[in-house]
Amino acid sequence: MNPAKSSPVQIARRGLMLVISSPSGAGKSTIARTLLEKDRQIGLSVSVTTRQRRPSEIEDVHYHFKSVREFERMRDSDALLEWAEVHGNFYGTPREPVEQAMAEGRDMLFDIDWQGAQQLQEKMSADVVSIFVLPPTMTELQSRLHRRAEDSEEVIQTRLANSRAEIAHWREYDYVIVNDDLNAAFDAVQSIVKAERLRRDRRHGMFDFVRELLEETPSL
Ligand code: ADP
Ligand code: 5GP
Repeated sequence: MNPAKSSPVQIARRGLMLVISSPSGAGKSTIARTLLEKDRQIGLSVSVTTRQRRPSEIEDVHYHFKSVREFERMRDSDALLEWAEVHGNFYGTPREPVEQAMAEGRDMLFDIDWQGAQQLQEKMSADVVSIFVLPPTMTELQSRLHRRAEDSEEVIQTRLANSRAEIAHWREYDYVIVNDDLNAAFDAVQSIVKAERLRRDRRHGMFDFVRELLEETPSL
């Protein structure tokens, strides 16, 4: 029988794998950071990378920074769920924290590129929800990369040159957001997460709930 209605009904569900990709500078990390601050149900998948740490970045918070040799060791021992070379550096998702989160029904956020998104789609398509973030204009993308002021001019130019090839993958994603106004873009992401958590096929607890609901006979 359903418990008395003193506590809210909780329906068990599978965890979401929320993948956010964009060309560098479009704002995906800003959106991801805001989501992590405001939504305590979602955790970040912290990637390993061989790129140099930016001044604002903290080891093990933004990335696990590794040498190429260490990265290759992880990749070759199957410790990475996916990996890719992006802008001349290696990046990968450690397997273990993701498998643990999924087993416990927790949500995880992945700030990864289109190559990583493709690999997760292939391996775990039922759990992946993917969002591609576009800049409003290429001029604004360039200004954001400069305003961020964390990369050298050479690095910025490489990222801008790669942006068109990255944008070409927009159709592979479930949702596409134009990050013109940051608040509006963030609202859109929150709406997606809220709706995806309510999908019937994710809420396996609904079977028990409906069975108990139908077994209940109101006493009146
Ligand atoms: P990405 O993670 O996609 O490379 P970031 O999140 O680091 O991009 O954003 C790049 C820069 O653009 C940052 O300085 C960020 O504060 C700024 N930014 C992000 N979204 C907006 C927006 N909607 N309007 C103006 N600036 C933005
Ligand atoms: P950045 O150097 O700006 O932090 O990241 C560069 C690009 O690498 C971004 O598109 C980012 O999403 C991507 N990236 C970061 N971590 C991973 C990862 O673990 N796997 C993959 N495939 N891409 C990643």
